[in-house]
Amino acid sequence: MAKYRCPMCRKISSRHLDLARHYLGQTDKKHKEWLKTQDLSYAKLIKMQVKEFGNKGYEALAEVLKREAPEVEDPK
Ligand SMILES: [Zn+2]
Repeated sequence: MAKYRCPMCRKISSRHLDLARHYLGQTDKKHKEWLKTQDLSYAKLIKMQVKEFGNKGYEALAEVLKREAPEVEDPK
């Protein structure tokens, strides 16, 4: 199964939604700054996640990660 890496660290997951959940769990500057390069805002995504039903914040970020997260080989 294909796996994808967080653009900002070594975190790997087979699901973009899991990466998005990881991503919004990080509060360091590196992770937050990258969102700005994608026309996203950490605060806005958290707000979407908290104020709206259905993981809207995670899903919005997962859509971006589908384009931007590097695919990695399964370790043999
Ligand atoms: Zn990360």
